[in-house]
Amino acid sequence: MPDPKPVNSKDLVRPLQFVSGVGPDRAEKLQKLGLRTVADVLFYFPRSYEDLTTTTNIHDLQDGTEATVVGVINQVDRQVTKAGKVIVGVLIEQDMQLMRALWFNPTFGIRDLQRGTWVAVRGKPKRKTMRWEMIHPKMMRLDLPEAPELSQPADPSFKNAVVPAASGKTSLSPSDNTSADSIWLGKFRPVYGLTDGLLQRDMRKIASNLTNRYAELLEEALPESILQRHQLASIIQAVQGIHLPGNQAEVDRARSRLVYQELFALQLGLAMRRSKMTSDANAPIINDTAKIRGRILRLFPFELTPEQTSAIDDVCKDLRNPVPMNRMLQGDVGSGKTVVAIYSILLSIACGFQVALMAPTEVLARQHFQTLSKQLKQSRVRMALLTGSVGQAERHQTQAKLAAGEIDVVIGTQTLIRSEIPWKRLGLVIIDEGHKFGVKQRAKLKQGGFDPHYLVMTATPIPRSAAMTLFGDLDLSVIRHAPPGRQPVGTYLVRPEKHESWWDFFGKQIDQGRQGFVVVPRIESSDPNDDTVTATKVYQQLIDGPLSRFRVELLHGQMPSEEKNRIMESVRRGLTQVLVSTTVIEVGIDVPNATVMAIFSPQKLGLSQLHQLRGRVGRGSYSGFVGLVLDEPTAEPARERLDLFCRTNDGFELAEADLKLRGAGDFFGTRQHGMPPLLIADLQQDESWLLKARSDARQLIQTDPNLEGDGLNRLRKLVMAKYGAVLELSDVG
Ligand code: ADP
Ligand code: MG
Repeated sequence: MPDPKPVNSKDLVRPLQFVSGVGPDRAEKLQKLGLRTVADVLFYFPRSYEDLTTTTNIHDLQDGTEATVVGVINQVDRQVTKAGKVIVGVLIEQDMQLMRALWFNPTFGIRDLQRGTWVAVRGKPKRKTMRWEMIHPKMMRLDLPEAPELSQPADPSFKNAVVPAASGKTSLSPSDNTSADSIWLGKFRPVYGLTDGLLQRDMRKIASNLTNRYAELLEEALPESILQRHQLASIIQAVQGIHLPGNQAEVDRARSRLVYQELFALQLGLAMRRSKMTSDANAPIINDTAKIRGRILRLFPFELTPEQTSAIDDVCKDLRNPVPMNRMLQGDVGSGKTVVAIYSILLSIACGFQVALMAPTEVLARQHFQTLSKQLKQSRVRMALLTGSVGQAERHQTQAKLAAGEIDVVIGTQTLIRSEIPWKRLGLVIIDEGHKFGVKQRAKLKQGGFDPHYLVMTATPIPRSAAMTLFGDLDLSVIRHAPPGRQPVGTYLVRPEKHESWWDFFGKQIDQGRQGFVVVPRIESSDPNDDTVTATKVYQQLIDGPLSRFRVELLHGQMPSEEKNRIMESVRRGLTQVLVSTTVIEVGIDVPNATVMAIFSPQKLGLSQLHQLRGRVGRGSYSGFVGLVLDEPTAEPARERLDLFCRTNDGFELAEADLKLRGAGDFFGTRQHGMPPLLIADLQQDESWLLKARSDARQLIQTDPNLEGDGLNRLRKLVMAKYGAVLELSDVG
């Protein structure tokens, strides 16, 4: 179909199947990547770039100096070692000269290399007796049209050379590719994320065509003053620069603009949400008096730490205001957050309001219920538990009592959100382990006459950049230091040769009357020959071996909840001495008598998660011990991580390291969080842009809360399109 010359911005939303050079077939594949219109492609940014601007001839290589070499694969050699590792070696030919490249356990792209393929490899060459060699270079396939005639005789020193069947022909025929790709040689090539059946060269061609034809139609959404302030490229320059850069500097300039725009839109959304919440003045006023404060503080058998007091002051200041509190309380495991929660609960009740406490799992909800029941025994607080496993009749009764105001505190899971409870006077919602709940879920408990106050607690220390993004609409109180008297927890790597003495030590702790945890990330494997470590297998080995004299139980997330409750209760009462479990015990389980924990396959867990697990021991008056049980020599990067974990007990330091290592999406499970992912910004790398975007956004929203000012229409549309729904901004303006 002829493609009329693009004339105005409407052409940007043209469906891809009607765009020449794309067509229905490719449009269907692009749709799998979520790309439906021209604009979608323009904003589908390359994942990385291949720098072919500087290449080196093999005879100009220098020992140890990184270089890019372009050539044709002459020979491929694949071997499998006894341990099952794959080694791939290739000879790369360039003007009759050969270089060897070698990979251990490479990706499929490298395993599949064939004679006759053009490649560029980048790495540090080493001079061997026969020739140059690169170990583990970066490899890119060049979709060049024609392979030259290769030198025929296989190099005799190249052991077990296998010439793949496909290259049996003596003269290599030109690939079926069109010549379009050769234009990339000597250039800077974008590399896109792909989907089944979509080739890199097709994606490149589509992106570069559409950029050339349509980018000029893009309209600027950022105000001129902002562009000036940060010296940003225009949107047209940025989109052209990201898809068709000549060098790294051009990518950087384009990227900065797009990163800023992405973070600015997000921060505007968060600022609008904040401003909207604070303009609703419908929260109950909960005022603490000296008398109430004294009465509550007398309940605690200890002095509060300065950080606990200041967190309580933050909360009290918020509760006094008819604007709903939206505060996040961050504190490492064992830092004493519960005290702040109990204070807030009792204060609200003293002022005549009901409180809902929401936990992410049934086990935790039950535990909170028990802890609070114990702590508040003499206080005449009326409590109820409302979780999925509470029977219908009881649930109805609890709901009726809540409606009648006969219950002060209800503790539950997400059931609390789902059941439409007709609260009598809900004043405060406390969400424990709040980072597990999405921004949307937080907003759901707003039934009843008031907009309740919200206190979100999290024991996962959150790096500043991530907190400002995912929880940027919340105020923050932080407890950084544990109360005095906390016992130290020692953490050790338990290598294979130390397994026996570790289990000896473990057993001695239990003999002394303590309890222990054994954590195994996986439950079981469907393949009986699979030798991965699983909870079921470990459990069996331990009760047949080093822990045979103890009462040991197995707990995992897929058990029916009555069974889980029974086991947790038995652990809490000290009947179960050792609990083998998956990571379900990660958050919040409080067994002060537990002192020792073994964690299997620790390299599979994030640092924050390991830290959460570690927080389960050493909670009482005894020191804690954590052994990271290693099965086999652990790869270097994992070792570094685990060493860091053994060295430091500072959850914030670990969280920063985690974010750096794994990226923000992984760190939080962004998807479950409900926020659209960041497409180009990287919270670690781009923290300085984040700070600028945040301060610009707050400043702008302060003077113009709905972005109604001159020239802000496009910016407003941009923010609403991405964040309007998830941040519930729809009724703004
Ligand atoms: P978190 O919920 O932050 O993990 P908790 O509130 O459960 O931590 O507190 C951990 C332990 O420290 C509890 O046993 C608690 O009784 C104790 N604790 C809390 N605050 C203090 C304090 N100010 N002084 C002494 N012990 C405290
Ligand atoms: Mg807690």
